[in-house]
Amino acid sequence: MPVAQRALRGLCSALLPPEAGGPDPGELSQEVLRFLESQPRYVRPAVVAGAACLDTASALLARRRLESLPPATREALLRRLTASQVGSAALDGLKALVLLVAGAERFAGESIGSARRSPPARPDAELDVTPSAAWPSTSRFDAVVVGSGAGGAMAARTLARAGMSVAIVEEGRRHGVDELRNSHPLQRFATLYRDGGTTGALGRPPVVLPIGRGVGGTTLVNSGTCFRTPQAVLERWRDEAGLGLADPDTFAPYLDEVWRMLQVAPVPLDVMGRNGMLALAGAEALGWRSAPLERNAPGCGGCCQCAIGCPRNAKFGVHLNALPEACAAGAKIVSEARVERVLTEGGRATGIEARRNDGSSVTIRAEHVIVAAGASETPPLLRRSGLGSHHHLGRNLALHPAVGTAGRFEEPVVAWHGVLQSAGVDEFHQSHGILVEATSTPPGMGSMVLPGFGRELVAEIDAADHLATLGAMVADLPAGRVHGTRRALIRYDLTRRDGRRLVEAIRVMGRVLFAAGASEVLTGIPGSARVRSSDELDEAVDRADPRWLHVAAFHPVGTARAGSDPERFPVDPTGALRGVSGVWVTDASVLPTCPEVNPQVSIMALALAISAGIAS
Ligand SMILES: Cc1cc2nc3c(=O)[nH]c(=O)nc-3n(C[C@H](O)[C@H](O)[C@H](O)COP(=O)(O)OP(=O)(O)OC[C@H]3O[C@@H](n4cnc5c(N)ncnc54)[C@H](O)[C@@H]3O)c2cc1C
Ligand code: SF4
Repeated sequence: MPVAQRALRGLCSALLPPEAGGPDPGELSQEVLRFLESQPRYVRPAVVAGAACLDTASALLARRRLESLPPATREALLRRLTASQVGSAALDGLKALVLLVAGAERFAGESIGSARRSPPARPDAELDVTPSAAWPSTSRFDAVVVGSGAGGAMAARTLARAGMSVAIVEEGRRHGVDELRNSHPLQRFATLYRDGGTTGALGRPPVVLPIGRGVGGTTLVNSGTCFRTPQAVLERWRDEAGLGLADPDTFAPYLDEVWRMLQVAPVPLDVMGRNGMLALAGAEALGWRSAPLERNAPGCGGCCQCAIGCPRNAKFGVHLNALPEACAAGAKIVSEARVERVLTEGGRATGIEARRNDGSSVTIRAEHVIVAAGASETPPLLRRSGLGSHHHLGRNLALHPAVGTAGRFEEPVVAWHGVLQSAGVDEFHQSHGILVEATSTPPGMGSMVLPGFGRELVAEIDAADHLATLGAMVADLPAGRVHGTRRALIRYDLTRRDGRRLVEAIRVMGRVLFAAGASEVLTGIPGSARVRSSDELDEAVDRADPRWLHVAAFHPVGTARAGSDPERFPVDPTGALRGVSGVWVTDASVLPTCPEVNPQVSIMALALAISAGIAS
C-alpha cells in the first residue's frame, strides 16, 4: 500500500474508529486523497507528512502501525501525543481536514437534495463574461477594474453608468446556479475559495482566513449578513483618518443606495431555523439586545449552504446585482485572468497586464485602473507593479477575528436546517466590541469543531444535530500585515486586548446558550472543552489562554487604508493611490480600521463613494 494511503488510513481509523461506528478508514482515506487533489500543491505533502509522523510514532511506541492497533490503544496513543499544546494543535489541523471530508461526504446527499428541492429564486443574471482564453491579447478601455467582488463590482457599475467603457478582470471563473445545485459540496468548497480554502494568517494563534475567488468575489460565499457602518466608526474614519467621504451625512446616501440594491431585509422567522431561534430565546431570557439579522437574500429558503455558494440564487451577491447592472451599462468581464501588474508610464496608469491559465498574457490599456483584489491580494499586486513603496502598504491589517461555541440541547436543533447566519446578539457590541451571530456551517461541514477523537468524537458527531452553534467576532486593532509580492503571506499577531475580548466572547456565547436551555456548552477552549454550568464556564474562561484558541476570520480590511496623512495612509481621501496618478483602490483594503460589523455594505458604499468621485 502506498505510504500516503497507509498513513491516512491510520489517521482516519484513530480519529473515527470504525469499531465505534466511524466510516471505513480505507474509503475515507481515499476520499481525503481525492479532496487533496483539488488543493494547492503544498497541502498534500504537508498532510501526508503529518499523518506519516503519527504512524511512525505508533510504530516506535506501540510497535505496530496505527491502523492495526486496538481502538483503545490508538486512543491512548493519540492522548499521549496530544498532551502538549503543540501536539494538540498539530492534530487539530489534520482532524479539521478529515472531518471536513467525512462530514461533507456523509451529508452530500442531503445537501444536494435540499439544494434542488425548490427552484432557484431567480435565474442567473445576464453578465457579459468572456473567459480570458477567448479574450484578445490587447484591448483598450477607459477604465479597468481588477477584481469582481464587493468593491470592484460597485466601482465598475458606477463608472459604466457614468458612460465610461469598463473592463473587469477577474482571476476566478463564473459559477452558475446549475453548477451550485448539482455539484458535490466539497467540490464547491474547493473551487469557490482561493487556494481551495486553505488561506490563513500565521501567528499565535494562527487564524483560518477563507477568501472567495470567482465572478462575484467573496460575496459568492459570504453569509449575506448586512450592517450599515456604525456612526461611531464613520466619525472615527472622518476625524482620525481624515476620510471626508466617511462623514456620516455624506456617507448615508451611499449606504442607502447599497442597501436598496442588495434588497436587505430581516431574516423571516419562518425560515430562520431553530439555531437562530435559540439564540434569540437565550438573549431574551438574559434581557440582552438581540434580533433577526438583516441580510441580502430575497427568496432565501434556509438551506444553510451560503458558504459554498447559494444553490437558489437567493443570496444576492454582486454577481446578481452590481455586476449585471454594470454589464447592462456596457461593462465587460474577463474571467480566469490573474492581473500580474498595473502598467504605468511616466507616473501615470496605462492599464494592466494579466495572465491566462495557459501562461500567455493579456494587456488591457486604460487611463484609469481601479484595484479591488481584496485586502490580502491588493498589496502584493501593487508591489509587483512597482507601486508598493509606501511604508504602510500591507500593514494595519484588521481581521475581525471570530471564535465559535456550541450548546447541547435535549431536543434536536439541526442547526443546518435554516438560515446559515440568522440572528444577532449585540448587547456587548458597543461596550466590548463583541458581536454574536447564530451561525451554522453547511450540512456536515462543521464537525471539525467537535472536541476529542476516537469513540468520544464519533459519539459527538452522531449527536451533532442536538447542538446549537454561535459565532462571535471582536472589533480588533490593526495587528497584521500582508507580506509578499508573488503571493500574499499574512501575519497577524492578536493583541492582548483582543485576545481577552475573544475569551470574553466565549463567556457571552456560553451564557446565551445556557439561558436558552443548553445542558452543556462546547467552549472551544483547549483543556476545558466542555462545561456544564455557568460557574464552570466562568472558570474555563478565566483560565483560557487566547494563544491556543481556534480562531477564524472572514473580514480582512485596512491594508491600503485611505486617509489624509500622506505618511500613514497609502491611499488618499479620494481613494487614489499615492505616488502615481490614475490608480484607485476600492476594496476592503481602503477601510481605515475594522468596521466592527460584517463589512460588505461598508466596502460597497465606500467603493461607490470613491468611484462616484472618479466618474465626476
Ligand atoms: C465565509 C465568509 C462569510 C462572510 N460573510 C459575510 C457576511 O455575512 N456579511 C458581510 O458583510 N461580509 C461577509 N464576508 C466578508 C465579505 O464578503 C468581504 O469582506 C467582501 O466581499 C470583500 O470585498 P472585496 O471587494 O474587498 O474583495 P472580494 O469580494 O474578495 O473580491 C476580490 C476579487 O478579486 C479577485 N482577485 C484577486 N486578485 C486578483 C488578481 N491579481 N487578478 C484578478 N482578480 C483578482 C478575487 O478572485 C476576488 O474575486 C464573509 C466572508 C467570508 C469568507
Ligand atoms: S440559506 Fe443561504 S444558501 Fe440557502 S437559500 Fe438562503 S441564502 Fe441561499
